[in-house]
Amino acid sequence: MPYLVLAFSFALAGGLVGKLKGSSFFIWFLISGVLPVLGLLAALLYRSEYDEVRRQCPGCGKIVKLHDAVCTRCGTELEFPDVAIEPESHVTPR
Ligand SMILES: [Zn+2]
Repeated sequence: MPYLVLAFSFALAGGLVGKLKGSSFFIWFLISGVLPVLGLLAALLYRSEYDEVRRQCPGCGKIVKLHDAVCTRCGTELEFPDVAIEPESHVTPR
């Protein structure tokens, strides 16, 4: 069953890539297994939330993504911040 071997290889690769990017091995393993080429590509292109620049909501203090316009916890409308919080995966500013 060459296809199954191929699919399994892609699933394994996708799972490993997903895990390296801080996501779930199992989820990317499934995605890459069902959609061998596309799944692996998606895993490669996937941006971890840890790579997002973040900022703190002035209303409730929740850490939200920089591009979020409204706080997901308290609904405060968020101006573009003066100070952004560095992504967890980066040490140096962009
Ligand atoms: Zn808030």
